[in-house]
Amino acid sequence: MFDASPLPHYFSPEHVQFRDMLRGFIASEIIPHINAWDEAGTFPRELYRKAASLGLLGLGYPEEYGGTPVDIFYQIILAEEFAHSGSGGIQASINSHTIAMPPLLAAGSEELKQRILPPVISGEKIAALAVTEPSGGSDVAGLRTTAIRDGDHYVVNGEKTFITSGMRADYITTAVRTNPTNKGAGGVSMLLIEGDTPGLSR
Ligand SMILES: Cc1cc2nc3c(=O)[nH]c(=O)nc-3n(C[C@H](O)[C@H](O)[C@H](O)COP(=O)(O)OP(=O)(O)OC[C@H]3O[C@@H](n4cnc5c(N)ncnc54)[C@H](O)[C@@H]3O)c2cc1C
Repeated sequence: MFDASPLPHYFSPEHVQFRDMLRGFIASEIIPHINAWDEAGTFPRELYRKAASLGLLGLGYPEEYGGTPVDIFYQIILAEEFAHSGSGGIQASINSHTIAMPPLLAAGSEELKQRILPPVISGEKIAALAVTEPSGGSDVAGLRTTAIRDGDHYVVNGEKTFITSGMRADYITTAVRTNPTNKGAGGVSMLLIEGDTPGLSR
């Protein structure tokens, strides 16, 4: 079990209070169920809503989307305390939006941000980032999934694998090749694909 002592000079009384609250949440809501959830290979969606009710899913996100702008040490505390649960799967899954949503935040339209971010931050919807493919994950610039524009939408063809929260994500930020003639990184874009899109199988 992870039990490193936090470096006290980085953490204010507010940080310590947050850590205590989080440790209590993990002790009561996660640790008693961890073995059963590991055996089942999943955990209840309700856990996202419970985590969100404490503000855990909105750390560092702008207030206008339901987030709470905080310094990086809150996120460090979040990572440390989730590690206490002893399950890397919970840690990664509960926080899969932290890798899925930054591309949207950085480059998405305002309409898309207002539609997608609040339900993810409130734990109603789950978000995943899909980059890795069966042909390999390290060589992102070589990814093979294509997205060809057809009128007002894209037709996407390809496969992804090892995607955290991928089996039940409502929103999948997906790395695709929108310019098939550019075989390198320059041909790659990020598309937000909704989980109920026709033709998507998992
Ligand atoms: C728990 C877990 C969660 C994950 N979640 C996600 C997720 O949410 N979204 C997502 O997109 N992916 C996810 N992944 C996939 C992860 O990003 C890939 O596993 C990773 O990028 C490596 O890709 P690969 O497994 O295909 O290995 P490969 O890229 O095939 O590499 C195999 C081996 O070759 C080495 N190697 C590769 N290229 C080179 C090189 N040029 N020079 C020297 N050595 C090299 C690698 O270091 C590795 O040891 C997850 C993986 C794990 C284990």
